[in-house]
Amino acid sequence: MSKILVQKFGGTSVGDPERIKRVAARIKSYYEKGYQLVVVVSAMGDTTDDLIELAAKISKNPPKREMDMLLSTGEQISISLLAMALAETGVPAISFTGGQVNIVTDGNFSNARIESIDTARLTHELSQNHVCIVAGFQGVDVQQNITTLGRGGSDTTAVALAAALKAKECEIYTDVDGVYTTDPNKVDGARKLSQISYDEMLELASLGAGVLHSRAVEFAKKYDVVIHVKSSFNYNEGTKIVSENDMMEKILVTGVTLKNDDARVTVADIPDKPGIAAELFGALAEKKINIDVIVQSSGRAQKGSKEEKTNTISFTTPVASVSTAQEVLSALTKKWGAGSISTDENIAIVSAVGIGMKSHTGVAASMFKALADNNINIEMISTSEIKISCVIAQERGKDALRLIHHVFGLDNVA
Ligand code: ADP
Ligand code: ASP
Ligand code: MG
Repeated sequence: MSKILVQKFGGTSVGDPERIKRVAARIKSYYEKGYQLVVVVSAMGDTTDDLIELAAKISKNPPKREMDMLLSTGEQISISLLAMALAETGVPAISFTGGQVNIVTDGNFSNARIESIDTARLTHELSQNHVCIVAGFQGVDVQQNITTLGRGGSDTTAVALAAALKAKECEIYTDVDGVYTTDPNKVDGARKLSQISYDEMLELASLGAGVLHSRAVEFAKKYDVVIHVKSSFNYNEGTKIVSENDMMEKILVTGVTLKNDDARVTVADIPDKPGIAAELFGALAEKKINIDVIVQSSGRAQKGSKEEKTNTISFTTPVASVSTAQEVLSALTKKWGAGSISTDENIAIVSAVGIGMKSHTGVAASMFKALADNNINIEMISTSEIKISCVIAQERGKDALRLIHHVFGLDNVA
């Protein structure tokens, strides 16, 4: 069994000097148990947000390369301070930027994907009994440009390192003591899960459960890395993210999420011909625009009219992608002679996730009924084998989240 353990500490956990010292003390206790430690840290507290604000004071549209150069500095502060804190306690530690440990990504600034990691330097340092501290959220592309992995991306750095080093486990220390049935900071009755499958966690993370970066879960699933989410403020048992086969019971609904940062985009009067949807979503994909829920409704041409039949296509996408999507779509609608493009940012997506749905029916019906009984209108629906999502008005989002959490028996009844 590998003695390598990867531990990741998020922004709140290293938010001030005292907390950095506390993290150092925890690392020391593992070091003394004989683990070989690779520690990944995020930027302190709100540093990344502050850097984004700083850039906005200089430019409305900063070059993406320079933005990544700027944002990567946050993590550089915390790795050096943590290495100093460890040195103070007598533990030999050495800090590295992503580039220094050869975390190579594609060149997609602000949302780069890790392509390879060369672990030679890390394994050498570990063999010397040094604790390696690696800056999260960053890498370099093949031209040595600094890239960042998307907000929350330090989780992905940690899991990717755990995979590359064949570590025993990847511990993610954060400000809650595990993965809950829903965000414990939004719903009082949220309950901590002792384990959850990769697929469920992947759905929850993509649907707005910010506790883990979804790409980190993707990596973990692909390379069989066990993730253990724990609190950096106490020693409680956390939540293990494991393969479905290792799940003790397959719960019907494991968790619910609410996402408020998506918008709906609607394109009206699109010619009803083969290939149109492929062209539309192909053009959006080329611009790396993420799409979630899609609905196509067919308009009917007037009886006897010579006019062609048309469709309306609506989809949801992050608010941040709306203006790019509009540019892409206006070129297409002109070309097709299609109708108007409209957008609505006042939506929320509420979702229920659980592997038990694979073998049970009626989950969707219960969710729809709960919303209907409370007069919440469903505007769009999307399902997968293990999730159901409904697009609703944003002002009813929190009500819907609590309601669905309750309907599926997830409330803590302590
Ligand atoms: P870190 O800085 O440690 O990466 P994050 O803020 O990214 O921390 O993630 C932790 C936060 O995720 C929690 O404070 C919590 O509000 C939020 N969260 C959202 N959904 C969940 C969930 N299902 N379980 C636990 N935490 C969740
Ligand atoms: N510091 C980065 C962010 O705030 C990465 C991370 O915390 O994981 O998004
Ligand atoms: Mg995070």
